[in-house]
Amino acid sequence: MKAVSKETILLSPIGDFDADILHAVEAMVPDVFSLLCHIQPLIDNIDFAWDARRRQFHSTVILEELSANAPLNAHKIIALTHHDLFIPILTHVYGEAQLGGRSSIVSTCRLADGISVVSRRATYLMRIVKETAHELGHTFDLRHCKDNRCLMHYCRSIGDVDTKTGQFCRYCRVLLSDHLKKIRSQSPTALKKN
Ligand SMILES: [Zn+2]
Ligand SMILES: [Zn+2]
Repeated sequence: MKAVSKETILLSPIGDFDADILHAVEAMVPDVFSLLCHIQPLIDNIDFAWDARRRQFHSTVILEELSANAPLNAHKIIALTHHDLFIPILTHVYGEAQLGGRSSIVSTCRLADGISVVSRRATYLMRIVKETAHELGHTFDLRHCKDNRCLMHYCRSIGDVDTKTGQFCRYCRVLLSDHLKKIRSQSPTALKKN
């Protein structure tokens, strides 16, 4: 069994996900964050986060549960769900993350808006990749960015998601690389790829 370094990102599907979705996110992590990614479900349902009045799931509660269930060797967690998520001040969210913390989650629920997930598969996968990279970015302490082409841009609509590229702007890239350097200096072998 391959050793999991301290800085491994865990991709944690909640429920069943098509393999191409998992592979797309799994491939994004080393590309965008230069870190290893390992697929490992941590929780199998999110009924505890159900809000009967809103008929949606409260994402903040799920983040706490993910962090509580994460193995020590998981540096960050990006979870995926098909269910619709909300935080109290918004009608819905594409995802949420603990800023500078450990856990993040993305919902595919509204990422299919306006397209067929079969005939526009590449667009659908790209939306999921962009939003997972965005939420993971928050766990590395990246804030929202004004550049609408940058992964850290806050998207109010699905059109905003399609507009942004799959890359960080120069400014966010520097912030991320500073943060990663800090991790490397704390654990020199952490980012060695095997
Ligand atoms: Zn955000
Ligand atoms: Zn940016």
